[in-house]
Order: sequence, then structure tokens, then C-alpha cells
Amino acid sequence: MSKTVAFIGLGNMGGGMAANLVKAGFKVNAFDLMAANLKAAAEAGCTPVECAKAAVKGVDYVVSMLPNGAIVESVYLGASGNGDASEPLLDYIPKSALILDCSTVAPANSRRVGAEADKRGMQFVDAPVSGGVAAAAAGTLAFMVGGSESNFDAAKPVLNAMGANVFRAGDVGAGQVAKICNNMLLAIHMTGTAEALQLGMDNGLDPKVLSDIMLKSSGCNWSLEKYNPVPGVMDNVPSSNDYQPGFMVDLMLKDLSLAMEASVGSQSSIPMGTAARNLFNLHKNSGEEDKGLKDFSSIQQFYAKPAP
Ligand code: NAD
Repeated sequence: MSKTVAFIGLGNMGGGMAANLVKAGFKVNAFDLMAANLKAAAEAGCTPVECAKAAVKGVDYVVSMLPNGAIVESVYLGASGNGDASEPLLDYIPKSALILDCSTVAPANSRRVGAEADKRGMQFVDAPVSGGVAAAAAGTLAFMVGGSESNFDAAKPVLNAMGANVFRAGDVGAGQVAKICNNMLLAIHMTGTAEALQLGMDNGLDPKVLSDIMLKSSGCNWSLEKYNPVPGVMDNVPSSNDYQPGFMVDLMLKDLSLAMEASVGSQSSIPMGTAARNLFNLHKNSGEEDKGLKDFSSIQQFYAKPAP
């Protein structure tokens, strides 16, 4: 008999992920606060339900893909005045079910929800993702999981239906730590790549020629290889499509803020991550329009000199 999943949060990422669970043979009860997202989930074969409580009734798994840690905590642990989430969802999830929170949140949020689940004899993993909306739709996400080895094994059938790579980073919260580290590094090599390309262009080089040289030299990195920030150097990347996301500056800022928060807790020095966060923040607020909704590779525009 097919297993049942409650999917909470069917936005840009969750919509594609839930659709892939349906394709893989799971029965999916879908809940979101936005009617349009519920409708799209129904069209993808999910069963839309009126509240999170109804979604989790009798399920084998609960998957959440929510905007931030405050919302994740309010859904699972309860908080008055937040939509459906005035009662802890943990009170309604079957004890035998495995909970997978795939949202990007602070490790402390995951640990708090994990500890409450544990107190009730329930199973929880944090499983944030790398890869954007396209990877969510294509089922090629990378999952970074925090949880016990047995819960990791139990999570694999669900995660493999939504992703191409599944890693266990450690205990609950460790998935979020891995995600924060990865995205801080991404921010650093994207800003570095934009800076180097601008220096080359300002000194008369063609950015395509410079990119080809660095791709075969020691400056090669993922941003240069897969996501060149200078318009026209690569096809099918946000820079060649007016910096339409992709991965928004606002989401990168959220992840860099989580990195800063983690570094305060562990007393780690992150001068490069801090610089990257400041650069993206300055970029977001530069000029008349809010750049927060642009793809994060638009940091190139921050370096570009205004036309004479
Ligand atoms: P989104 O805003 O498109 O989707 C979030 C959904 O959650 C919305 O549909 C919203 O209505 C719903 N929601 C909010 N509160 C709710 C509640 N109490 N109950 C039920 N539904 C509720 O966001 P997204 O881009 O899908 O991102 C989701 C998560 O994935 C975030 O944590 C984000 O950081 C992470 N992430 C996003 C990307 C990306 O490229 N978009 C990439 C990697 C990770």
C-alpha cells in the first residue's frame, strides 16, 4: 500500500517537491495558507486539505517547506495568532510518523522542534536543501540531513523521491549547519568572482575570455563554471535574463544572517562571510529599486561602474 505524506508549505520550492512525491507513488495531503498554492498542488495530484491538523491525520511522514524558523516553530510547537498554527501540530501527528523539516532555519530552531518531538517519543530530522526552484521541480535537490542514523535511513525513501543527493551531516540541527556553511561559501565565491571579472573588464579584458582563462586556472569555482554573473557570458543563467531569479538576494541575505547568528553562538570568526553579507545588503539597497528580488548573481551590478 502506498505511504502517505502530509506536506505543509507549497510555495516555490514545496510545490515542486510535493509533485515529485506524487510522481514517486506517495499519497500527499497538502496544506498551505495560500489558496492558489493549494490549487496548484491539487492539479499536481495532491489532496488539498483545510488545515495542517487534517493533513497529518494517519500519515507515515510529515514534510514541511516553510519560509523561516519562527513559522516552523509556530507550526510544530504552536503560537497564537499565526494562521492555522495556534495549537502545536506535534499534538496531532501520529507517533509512528517521521517528521522532515526541509525549510532553511537556524540550527537552534531545528533543535527546539527536535527536542519537543523527542519528549513526545516522536521522530524528527532537519533536511534543508541545496538547489533552487528548478531543482525542486526536477527532483534533483541535494538534502543535508540532521538526525539519528535510523531516522536518516527512514527518511531516505521520501528524500530520494525529491532529490538526487542525500547526505547525513550529523544529529538534529547539523543539516542546517551544513546548509549555512555551504551558502556562506557560495556568497563568498560569487562576490569574489564578480569582483575579479569587473577588475578584468575595467582593465580592458573581454569577460568571456577572462572567464575561459580562469576556468582552466586556479581561480575556477562553481559561480564561474555554472552561474557566470556577467550578462552574455553564459546562456541560460539569471545574468543573461536580466537577473531574474534563480536565487534571490533576499534569500541569500537570510542565509548569511543565519551564518552570522551561528558564528556568534560558536564564537567563530567569519570575516569573509560578514563582508559578503554587507556587500549583498549594500547591493540590495543601492539605487532606486529594491534589488532583494533579483538573482544573487546581480551582485555584479554592485561592482559595475556607472556608464559615463
Ligand atoms: P515560499 O514563500 O515560496 O513558500 C513558502 C510557503 O509556505 C508559502 O506558500 C506560504 O503560504 C506557506 N506558509 C507560510 N506559513 C504557513 C503556515 N503557517 N502553514 C502553512 N503554510 C504556510 O518560499 P520558498 O522559496 O518555497 O522557500 C521555502 C524554504 O526553502 C525557505 O526556508 C527557503 O529559505 C528555502 N530554500 C529556498 C530556495 C529557493 O531558491 N527558493 C532554495 C533553497 C532553500
